[in-house]
Amino acid sequence: MSMLQGKSVLVLGGSRGIGAAIVRRFANEGANVTFTYFGSRDAAQRLASETGSTAVLTDSGDRDAVIARVRDSGPLDVLVVNAGYAIYGDAREHDPDEVDRLLRVNVHAPFHASVEAARQMPEGGRIIVIGSVNGDRMPVPGMAAYALTKSALQGMARGLARDFGPGGITINVVQPGPIDTDANPENGPNRDLMHGFMAIKRHGRPEEVAGMVAWLAGPEAGFVTGAMHTIDGAFGA
Ligand code: NDP
Repeated sequence: MSMLQGKSVLVLGGSRGIGAAIVRRFANEGANVTFTYFGSRDAAQRLASETGSTAVLTDSGDRDAVIARVRDSGPLDVLVVNAGYAIYGDAREHDPDEVDRLLRVNVHAPFHASVEAARQMPEGGRIIVIGSVNGDRMPVPGMAAYALTKSALQGMARGLARDFGPGGITINVVQPGPIDTDANPENGPNRDLMHGFMAIKRHGRPEEVAGMVAWLAGPEAGFVTGAMHTIDGAFGA
């Protein structure tokens, strides 16, 4: 029997890409999975019926909705915060409202969701947040706001690990490099640029990230917390 059998899992942002692979992985392991979506209702409903999971509409840019979703889904054994996106271009050209929304989705939601989950989580609880290798390295222009959000998750995880550790709850950040999803398709225009930075010259697959998340959620990772786990083909090495 899987170590994740019967675990109560919430994935924020599970309708597509890496999040959908995480939903599939936990569902295949026999966990009871709920996931949120925002713009992709049809994809979410297809994934829910394919995997036997539950899809719920929640905008990660809406702080109170995120907190309520986590609270009403609890007590959780595992929280995965995957919802996130990037804005591109010279920071001097950004609309400040767009930057603020990015911060709400990529930073505020992970913080409030993690804190709310930890209020009810039993000992052995696991919180896993999807960051990015761009939290460590930013080798191209036009992505400063995104890098800001992913670096912020590092300090968050280090600090919350201290708060949650005595209760037996771990929190970790998984930092992917280029992964083949709608947000970063392997056949996109920046493929050669990205692969040029990498030792393994291909995009990663969402399932590879899901495998790392599943390990962090399992009993072998009970001593792993406040840490960043990079899976990037040496993009940032
Ligand atoms: P996709 O664009 O393929 O999927 C994004 C997922 O997040 C979708 O399920 C989307 O749901 C959800 N999401 C986005 N905004 C919201 C919101 N406001 N409320 C609820 N859900 C939301 O992206 P990826 O799978 O590529 O990325 C997933 C995570 O991995 C992100 O945090 C990203 O920063 C990170 N990452 C990705 C890398 C890559 O190369 N692909 C590299 C490094 C990090 P919906 O469509 O329903 O709105």
